[in-house]
Parts: sequence; C-alpha cells; structure tokens
Amino acid sequence: MHDILIRNGRVIDGTGSPGIMMDLVIDGTKIGRLYKPGDGKGSVEIDAEGLVVCPGFVDIHTHSDFSLLGCPLAESKIRQGVTTELLGNCGGSAAPIIGAARKQAVDYAKKLWVDVTWSSFDEYLLHLSDVRTSVNVASLVGADTLRLGVIGANDTQATENQLRQMNELLAQAMIEGAYGISSGLIYAPGCFASTDELTSLASTSASLGGFYASHIRGEGRTVVKAVAEAIKIGRDADSRVQISHHKAIGIDNWGLVSKTIAMIEAARSEGVDVAFDVYPYTASSTWLNSILPPAIRDGETDSILKRLGDEKTREEIKRAFQNKDTDWENTVAEDGWDRIVLIGLKSEKYGMFENKSISDAASELNVSPDDLALDILAEDYLGVFAIFHEISEDDVKTVISHPLSAIGSDGEAEAPYGQTGDSATHPRSYGTFPRVIRRYSIEMGLFPMEEAIRKMTSWPAERIGLIDRGVIAKGMAADIVVFNPDTIRDMATFEDSHRYPEGIVHVFVNGQMTIQDGDHTKERAGQVLRHKPRVS
Ligand SMILES: [Zn+2]
Repeated sequence: MHDILIRNGRVIDGTGSPGIMMDLVIDGTKIGRLYKPGDGKGSVEIDAEGLVVCPGFVDIHTHSDFSLLGCPLAESKIRQGVTTELLGNCGGSAAPIIGAARKQAVDYAKKLWVDVTWSSFDEYLLHLSDVRTSVNVASLVGADTLRLGVIGANDTQATENQLRQMNELLAQAMIEGAYGISSGLIYAPGCFASTDELTSLASTSASLGGFYASHIRGEGRTVVKAVAEAIKIGRDADSRVQISHHKAIGIDNWGLVSKTIAMIEAARSEGVDVAFDVYPYTASSTWLNSILPPAIRDGETDSILKRLGDEKTREEIKRAFQNKDTDWENTVAEDGWDRIVLIGLKSEKYGMFENKSISDAASELNVSPDDLALDILAEDYLGVFAIFHEISEDDVKTVISHPLSAIGSDGEAEAPYGQTGDSATHPRSYGTFPRVIRRYSIEMGLFPMEEAIRKMTSWPAERIGLIDRGVIAKGMAADIVVFNPDTIRDMATFEDSHRYPEGIVHVFVNGQMTIQDGDHTKERAGQVLRHKPRVS
C-alpha cells in the first residue's frame, strides 16, 4: 500500500514525451512507481479522471528573495503550480550581503515587513528553512550585490583586490549552496561592471559547477551587442549561460530576437552552452529609475536625488530621453511615455496615478511627462516601479516556441492580502504558467501541451542543475501538479493583477498536498535546495 495514489490521470512526465493514462503513487517525499490504470493502491486515493498530472513547475527566473519571507505561503506561485523558485536573479540576491549591500537589503526588506537577520549565504538559507515556505527554493548570487558590498554604488572599475574579494565571497556562497551567479547590467551598480569583471566571476562560479544568468546590458537597440557579450562571457569563463527574460524592447527593435536566437544557436554549435528564458507577456516591469542615464545613477540615492534637483542636469536628462543613439538602454526614447505605466507609488502626492501611464498622468496635471517622471522619482526616493508595454506579441511567440526557451515568470511570491496586496503588480506573478498553457499552447497551438510542460519542468531543472526534480519518474521528489486542461487559464490582468488562475486542482510539494481542490492547505513543505559544488 502506497501513501498516496493519483489515479486515472493523463501523466505528462515533463520530458516532452506524449501524455499517457497511468496511476501515479507517492511514498513519503518521493514519487513511487507508475501503474497501469486501476492497478495501484494508496492509503489516500485521488481521482484525476479528465485531468493532467505533471511535475511541479520550476520557475527559473524569480525575484522572491525577500517577499517569500513575508509571504511564505507563496500564494501567487503555488496556485499556478510552481513548486520551485530560483531566486537571486538580475544581479540582485539576498546574500551574501556586506557593507552598502546589507544596508540596501535592510531598507528594501523593511517595505515587505521583513527583518534582515543574516549576512552570509548560508545564514540566509538557514533563515529560509526556519521560515518554512510552501515552495522549494534555490538561489543564485547577484553580481550587483557583490559589487555593491565590496566596491559600493559608484561608477568605478574594480581593483585587483576588490575583484579578489568579490570572487572569494562568491566562492564561499557556492560552497554554501548557490547555483551560480547572475548579473543585471541595466541596473546600478551592475551597469558599471566590465565584461572582464563578469567573466572573472562567471569563471569562479563555473569552476564550482554553477551557471551564469544575465539580464543583459541592453534589450533594445543594443540587444545584439548585449547577447554577444553574454556569449563571450560564457566562452571565456567556460560557463553555462542563461539569458534572462529574452526579448527586444521598443518598436524599432522588434524582430531582433530572430537575429539573437540565431547567434545563440551558432554559439551552441561551437560548444558554448547558452539558452534563455521568457515570460508570456508583452510588457516588462522594473524600477522606474532604470530610465535614467547610468552616469546619473552613480553613487548613493541621496547624491542621485541631488542631481535630479539640479536644473542643468535635469535638462541634460531630458535631452537624453529624446536621443535614441545613446550607448545605454534608453527606455524612454525606445518606448515613449504612453507605454510606461506607474505602479508601487508610495507618496501621497502622486499615489492617485497608480496604474496610469506617465503621459496620461502628465496631461492630467498639465506638466511635461519628463518633469513628472523626475519629480515622482524624487518624491518616492527612487523606489517606484513601472510597467513598460514594449514587447511585440510576434517576438513573444518566436521566443516562447523555440525549444531552447524555458518559462520564467520574473515575478514574485506575493498575495492579494497583506503587504504585497497594497499596490498593483505585474500579472506574471500570478498568471505566467497557466497562461503559457492556455494562450500559447491550447489557443494559438504553437506547441503541444507536452512541450509547454517540458519548458516549465525538466528543461529549467536541467539549466539550474536540479537533479531530482522536473520529471515524473520513480525516486524523483514528489512535486506534482494536477490540472484541468479544459479550464486552466490565467486570470490576472494589468488592470486587476492580484488574481489567482483557474484550473490548478491539486499541487504537491515534496509529497505534501499544498493545493487541494484549488485551495491552499497552508502546508509549508518546501525545501531549501543547496547546490553541491563540483570542482571542474
Ligand atoms: Zn531582469
């Protein structure tokens, strides 16, 4: 007699193989064997007639580093069927944090009602274990976090000594269980890092079996150059490379993903192991301050705000907003103000513009959008987010249908209640995985459901280096999703973002039923996953 029997479901095992009617059993935290329908027996039996049974989704690109601590039930994720999250992306991780990086973490975490009690990577992972989350968690180390800690926020090159210190922190974190290193090259201070600095870090991570994930240096006019840099780093550091949330932003650049994917395929044929991930939306979301020229973002928040208050500098920034030929990613010039929507406003003065475009807000106030954006940044101490409607649906289709793409939400574990429910969010936090199945597989027919599930399970697990998850087979961790293929769909929209998807019936994490008949059981059986460093 097995612990749990899930009978009569269509088992899609995550490898891309066709679904097959089987009974699946769970023993403790592991998947047991598969039986012909009707042959298995379990103490608890669950009827999955008409439902799909597949591995739990592995979200390869998330930013739940702090939010999971405030929202350990991981409502937005587990209700999509996500059972494992990879944190530490886009150059920012919760650990290891020293100096200015620790100060920044404390300030950021405060907004999520989270206390920062750790410094090292090991301490952070221990803290995550103590908190007990509903999903499994793995993490990268952020290169920007290392740089902020060792060098500070300034636009300066790393000295030999500083680079050695960053590498030592990274190596220690790898030994403590990090899966690799990430960079965020449009953010400060990540944008100040040279290719050599990144290569050095990627090489340290690779020598211990880790990989390099990158929010590349530009996703607009400079996207081709930026992909070339990521490939070069992979080649020179002898590292696996994961290009994060791959896309081309700004109307003039739509279509460039065909070129970048061809470059990635060529690199692979020469032995550089590059792949990418994608989310199923035509809008991105990040800090609004990423629209500023890098030179303006040099240093601490106070010195940046001082620059924003200086008339001459303001005029320079406004001129830059008009100039498409800058060598940095110039979102305002690429997108236009009508495609940039404000979210996460904290100030009383501008709070009424939540979920409005900057151009609409500016015309309501009868001011120039340039001035309004700079004023909002100053008023909210640079802490505002925005949604950028800047990606073409054709490009999403190109990237998402490519066999090298994994699905990554780029979202956070959050909930419609509590601290995270306060402001609008990008719907990807709630809808990514059901949306890929409903919209891109079932409705558009771009790929079979088996392929959609492979992109969410075995493929991201392989990229990360998770050896016992992402596939349904005997002995694998019992992370399982049972969903209704007739009703599965995302419900979150840009207008109404905190909405759970439909059609996710049951979710098991390490053998524990965490979603039952569409509801959270409050189970918190997620494990903290630690990479075991391999010296190569
Ligand atoms: Zn990113």
